[in-house]
Amino acid sequence: MVTNYISGMTLRKYTYKLYPKPKQQSALLECLRLHQQLYNAALQERIEAYRKCGKTISYNDQQASLTRIREALPEYKALPCTSARMTLRRLDKAFKAFFRRVSKGETPGFPRFKSLSRFSSFELLTPTFSHSDTGQHGRLFLRGIGHIKARGQCRLQGTIKTSQIQHKHGHWWISLTVDGDARRPRNATRACAMDGGVAHLLTVVEESGRFEQIANPRYYRTGKANQAQLHQSVSRKKRGSNRWKNACRQLSTFKRKQANQSKDAHHKLAATIANTYALVAMEALRIKNMSRSAKGTAEQPGKNIKQKSGLNREIRDTAPASLMSMIRYKVEEAGGEFVETPTRQLKPSQRCPACEHTHKDNRKTQANFICTGCGFSQNADVVSGLNSLFWALGLGREHVPEAFASKPLLSSA
Ligand SMILES: [Zn+2]
Repeated sequence: MVTNYISGMTLRKYTYKLYPKPKQQSALLECLRLHQQLYNAALQERIEAYRKCGKTISYNDQQASLTRIREALPEYKALPCTSARMTLRRLDKAFKAFFRRVSKGETPGFPRFKSLSRFSSFELLTPTFSHSDTGQHGRLFLRGIGHIKARGQCRLQGTIKTSQIQHKHGHWWISLTVDGDARRPRNATRACAMDGGVAHLLTVVEESGRFEQIANPRYYRTGKANQAQLHQSVSRKKRGSNRWKNACRQLSTFKRKQANQSKDAHHKLAATIANTYALVAMEALRIKNMSRSAKGTAEQPGKNIKQKSGLNREIRDTAPASLMSMIRYKVEEAGGEFVETPTRQLKPSQRCPACEHTHKDNRKTQANFICTGCGFSQNADVVSGLNSLFWALGLGREHVPEAFASKPLLSSA
């Protein structure tokens, strides 16, 4: 979620739910439809120009013709010009991404025409949005539509940079990008290292040798059967029928609930960590490496594709990447420090903290570390975490604790 850090300023996204009246709802839907048609027309124009005369149309060309469109089709005058430009910009981004991937030798899908059900948002460059002093709830003003009540909370004082109106699951939302200083004075004093994995969501290690392993909440695994049933129920019905629509709605509600559940749990865990620790160390390549595509590339096909994609799926299910970024920004907001340790240089999962003997044979299995040099043995995730932490704190092997103990470290997690 954190997209930028410039001298303590942070860009952060907040979402408010909108409560439009029935008339406003149809007006919003009309706006969305205009944006969708503009997107499709601009796509059409690019395709035809290329097909007929081999000409490539740029964003600037299309932006210039926007004035003519607004003259010819008065309904487009209802949309703010900047907002319409953002939709053209979105198409431009889709094209740029397409050509970038083609030039890399990949085979991406060509930008597609979008039906209204697949076109769920439009941008507002300068929204007239006001909220209370605490950031809780507010009102959005749209020209020609009026004031719309909004519920939600923005915890960052700052200026609104961009915003997006979204239509999801039959509800309307506004998401704001706010620029401000998010840091608070520091309360926590302890240091720890974290290691994420498949067997456990997180392993937290302190330099005293105390550690805690936080189990994976397997919402997806338990929910998988239900989801499969709902999928089946959709595919058994006639596409476009009322019963089909109903089944689709049930499926999307289910998915949304699962995603919310996991996001909520991650927020709580990250908040507890930020309140407990002033320094959190983490291996830089941990997540990147583990969830890299199992297929590999054409030149370097991956090994054990089947096992790895299973592993990738499980990693995705527990969504550690999003959890890590959440921990990172919450720790930094709380005035703490998040240290990435250099994986290649340090090799934390192969290094023995007691004698510094570093070899891949030290890690016999995914779970156990046994040093082939001195016989030191411990849980592999704990060893890896301890190495990262010692590196971050500048501690040597003489500080390796005599005993390790599994203790609850995160009281209110
Ligand atoms: Zn050793």
